[in-house]
Amino acid sequence: MKYDDDILNGLVCPKCHVRSVIKEYDNEPKQRRVCEKCGAFVGCHPGTERAMGILATPSTRSLRKIAHGWFDSIWRNKLKRSRYNAYSWLSLRLNMNKNDVHIGMFEEAECRKVIIISASYIKKKNPELYDTLKEKYGDPDSMCNSYED
Ligand SMILES: [Zn+2]
Repeated sequence: MKYDDDILNGLVCPKCHVRSVIKEYDNEPKQRRVCEKCGAFVGCHPGTERAMGILATPSTRSLRKIAHGWFDSIWRNKLKRSRYNAYSWLSLRLNMNKNDVHIGMFEEAECRKVIIISASYIKKKNPELYDTLKEKYGDPDSMCNSYED
């Protein structure tokens, strides 16, 4: 997915395309940029109004973490020869250019794809690891049953 600079810098919400506003955190000294339409946000570098990345909703953030958890387990456990190989494989499966595979920027639908692709691969290659990860991140099937392709 390609974003323009205003989205990459947290000035515009990638979903709603409205400008973000500066707000305080409830219990942190730094500020954050918030989309008032959908509630997506991103933290700012301490003492600045400069966003640390792209705005995202809490549910998107947690799906990204889960997608990273499943995918990183593949190369961390050497189910692919290297991290590089794992990313090449994932980009083919996602039908994306390798340079665009940044899970930290994915929308929820893309995260769900990463979870399904990674979990089914792990299940095939290492069922014990699959069970461990399922404990940790939740059942990928139930998490992704709303996903249609
Ligand atoms: Zn928004």
